[in-house]
Amino acid sequence: MSIDVRHRRHSRPVGRLCVHDLTPARARDASGPSATRDSGFLFRWRVRYSAMQKVAAYRLEHNITDDDARSAEIDEIIGLLRKWLVEKRADDPSANEGEFRSERDDSSGRFEWQQSEYERRSWRMLRLSEELAQGRQFETSISVTDTGRSVVVYTTLASGLISSAVTPVRTEARCPRPIRGILDLHTSWYHGTTRIQGLRRTEGHEAGRQLADEIRSSSRTLPLIVISEDDGEQFLPKLDKKLSRSLLGLANVTVIDEGASWGLTDVLGKGRSCYWGAIRIYWPRYDENRHQIWRVRRLLDSGATTERFEAQIRSHVMRVSALSAVRPKDIDQIRRGSDRARMQHVQEQLKSREEWEAYAEMYASDNTKLLQKNERLEEENSRLRDELQNAQALLGALPEHDEEILPDRADEEEDPGPTKGEIRYYKKIGSSRKMDKMVETSACGHSAWQSAHKADKAKKGIERYVGRRDWKSVQHCGSCTGGGMWKVQW
Ligand SMILES: [Zn+2]
Repeated sequence: MSIDVRHRRHSRPVGRLCVHDLTPARARDASGPSATRDSGFLFRWRVRYSAMQKVAAYRLEHNITDDDARSAEIDEIIGLLRKWLVEKRADDPSANEGEFRSERDDSSGRFEWQQSEYERRSWRMLRLSEELAQGRQFETSISVTDTGRSVVVYTTLASGLISSAVTPVRTEARCPRPIRGILDLHTSWYHGTTRIQGLRRTEGHEAGRQLADEIRSSSRTLPLIVISEDDGEQFLPKLDKKLSRSLLGLANVTVIDEGASWGLTDVLGKGRSCYWGAIRIYWPRYDENRHQIWRVRRLLDSGATTERFEAQIRSHVMRVSALSAVRPKDIDQIRRGSDRARMQHVQEQLKSREEWEAYAEMYASDNTKLLQKNERLEEENSRLRDELQNAQALLGALPEHDEEILPDRADEEEDPGPTKGEIRYYKKIGSSRKMDKMVETSACGHSAWQSAHKADKAKKGIERYVGRRDWKSVQHCGSCTGGGMWKVQW
């Protein structure tokens, strides 16, 4: 059984999985293990594939050396999680496990707490399984770890089907409410070495140069989404606010004015910069990754809207986070340590021979259970490996929406555009405050061309679309109604 996944024009084989920074995994040399999988990008859903697929992972870290301050912060976070259960209408929000039925967001399901403590470290996790329509399931696990020197919140979102089925599952994942609350507690949350920030604005040449340094920094661990303004406007209105909100904790977002674009270009060069209304994702590891760019022309040609573009970028960055945000090692250390300590405690209690024998029996039966559990875990592990492969294939190949707004081919030369003497036609499809939005079209068939001496907005639109203004003449059709039709002799 296999599902043909539409090949994305620019997709590349997905290679080594990267850890610790939110960066797309990709093959770095042709000899990589998956480099041969390029043709057609068919991938198979194993028959035993079912269960859940991780769709996003958050890792928030706050260094606090003071023990009291750390435990106060953890109490606050646990309070936010309990509040969430109250909002979800849990039958008993203070219980260790139970059910909830929320009318407001029409969800129901189960919740469960787990916890472990070891020496001065602790781990607590809330897992919420929601049952959605059509047998779909959504799972949110939020864990809070006291590492003895920091507070780490690690969260995963997973979606899937309750019964096993061979079908891709689409779920619109969104940032869980408690994560927003946790990020609102203070401004010192980090992912790796990069501080998690709200929406920023970068203004002026010097700030642009500094932004370039930040983009190139090898210690950056979060994607940085840059939205460039053209004449003081974003091409997709309010994209900055929508993206920074939906990707809070997973990517930092900044709007840059034209001065900052110049500063960026000075340092990075034209091909790796972002200007004239373009939108770009700078992934961590500047030298190794491609940084997708959507220029205004591309956005115009694909009829991009703020809503479509936001949904596409959100799901893309979330999928990358699911593959790359690493679960804190402390969790396993705390859980193992706590189990060992419990065992030791039991041993100390055992005095008599009878007690020892009873203990030995219990130990043997526990051992059998553990062996069985181990087998199950190995099976689970192999399933997860399959799932990871599928996820990697998805990351490279499966567009979340039917009509994806493809990025420009950033590594290649830009289209050189019209040659000297060529005639091309452009049509107005909308306008902003300062310019008309133009796309290239074919001739309308009329012959009523009128010279356009002023038409500053139209000319500016053509310049932005083509990237040049070295035309010989620009004429307007007197017969066409609706959006204006323009004939340009280059
Ligand atoms: Zn016409």
